[in-house]
Amino acid sequence: MVAKAKHYAKMHSMFEASISTRVDCGKMCAPLNGGMPVCCTADHAVPVVTKGEWRQLKKTTEAWKKFKPRDKAGREIVDELHDDCLAIECKIAPMCDRVSRTIACRSFPFFPYFTKDEELVGLSYYWIFEDRCWVISNLQVAEPAFVDQMITTYEYLFKKDEEEYEAFLDQSKSMRRVFSKKNKVIPIVARDGKYFKILPKTKGEVIPAEASDFLALGPYKSEKAYAKAIKDEGGDPEGHSLADSGL
Ligand code: SF4
Ligand code: SF4
Repeated sequence: MVAKAKHYAKMHSMFEASISTRVDCGKMCAPLNGGMPVCCTADHAVPVVTKGEWRQLKKTTEAWKKFKPRDKAGREIVDELHDDCLAIECKIAPMCDRVSRTIACRSFPFFPYFTKDEELVGLSYYWIFEDRCWVISNLQVAEPAFVDQMITTYEYLFKKDEEEYEAFLDQSKSMRRVFSKKNKVIPIVARDGKYFKILPKTKGEVIPAEASDFLALGPYKSEKAYAKAIKDEGGDPEGHSLADSGL
């Protein structure tokens, strides 16, 4: 069974909260990406939706078009897609109207994290974006309303779509494998403002944590690192500071 357009209509209405009502995180990562929020450009991550969500989006917004590969990497992405999925591209970025956001847009950079025992304990993140996404370096900005709506929405999705459930079990497993190899802590943002973590080599044991356990990464470690990353991406660091977040 796969989720249909009507299920996505319900999920879009269940999940409207922003990660943060205090911070515009796109302002922080855009200087590293030619002025565009990293998660709104197909250069870094081609958005993929199920056909059910695509049908729902077509009813409510003109913001999306089918992704047309421009190179070999793009063609590979399209070729490897599951039969029930399609790659799309946003036409309105960076002027987001918010109602056009896919479930993936609303969730980014988070995904629902399952323990080894298949318990959905909270949210972790797509680690390949650690070097670009400011939120990953500032997990404390994820507000309880966002976390609760995202988890509730995915719980609903998993009841409607077994393949999505399996996909996130795999994603969680893959994170355990990668982080264990790299000797890194897996952070988890849970409901009610709680945090958990999984230490390396502990067979996936989930233990309580504090937001302060999770350190800033890569370009967001220091002003110097931020300026260098902007420069390395061909931007001008002048006028940009980590303090721009207002935190
Ligand atoms: S979620 Fe991450 S990548 Fe997307 S706009 Fe915010 S900081 Fe940038
Ligand atoms: S719908 Fe909004 S959040 Fe999603 S890619 Fe477009 S501009 Fe970005």
